[in-house]
Amino acid sequence: MTRLLVPFILLALAAPAQEPFSGESAYKLTAEVVALGPRPPGSAAARKMHALIVDKLRGWGWQVEEDAFTANTPIGRLPMKNIIARRPGTQGGRMLVVSGHTDTKKLAINFVGANDAGSSTGFLLELARIFRSARLKHDLVLVFFDGEEAIRDWSATDSLYGSRRLAARWLKENTLSRIEALINVDMIGDKDLVLLRESYSSEPLQRLIWSIAREFGYGRHFGNTGWAVEDDHVPFLKLGVRAVNLIDFDYGPNNSWWHTDEDTMDKLSPKSFEIVGKVVVEALKRLDR
Ligand SMILES: [Zn+2]
Repeated sequence: MTRLLVPFILLALAAPAQEPFSGESAYKLTAEVVALGPRPPGSAAARKMHALIVDKLRGWGWQVEEDAFTANTPIGRLPMKNIIARRPGTQGGRMLVVSGHTDTKKLAINFVGANDAGSSTGFLLELARIFRSARLKHDLVLVFFDGEEAIRDWSATDSLYGSRRLAARWLKENTLSRIEALINVDMIGDKDLVLLRESYSSEPLQRLIWSIAREFGYGRHFGNTGWAVEDDHVPFLKLGVRAVNLIDFDYGPNNSWWHTDEDTMDKLSPKSFEIVGKVVVEALKRLDR
């Protein structure tokens, strides 16, 4: 009897309850990516980053799809890659999606993009790490977009390359109708974290997230000023997907660190990652009911 019980006890220990979202870990994962240097589409550093992301995801047991494509940009055709990670749910059918971009804006300066887009990359990787042993009812899908940034100047055709591609593909494949909710994150690592009440976002989904934040005592980080920010959630919203964008668009004095060589790791805080992470994990749990 005792002998038989031992394997069961070991099995129970080997499958622990889900770990909490760690801001420290998300920060470290972000630092790993940022250390590669500027990561604009088609660069050697971007390729290294994609390999790093895929390695970590596979190591944590995720199903990984590398969707490589060529984008027509104002400077010619550029290779890009979306990475789509999936953990099948216990009931299947419906999907919860968390997304963010990995590319840094192509600039003539040494732009390492710690917050934009290191933070979204590190954030998604931390989600992948903590959900490696946990299962939801719905499929959990993490999307690492390439080509969010304009290669030259922001326009309908020069921006959101990765999300426009995936939204169109998932429409064709009948995947969009399976999405319960899509939560996009962008620039969530700032020490001085105040998320915008972004106004393209689906209101009920935003209300759910803001109310969880208040419950957790994080109300002051989830602001009440809102304007519309075109980001990777928009191509999905346009096709009827319930989607929200979590973005802090006030980075440094008068947003002066945004898209400059001031966007470095010292401007970020593990605490900010943790605030957003805890709220997103709770939102996923409630949306999974
Ligand atoms: Zn940007």
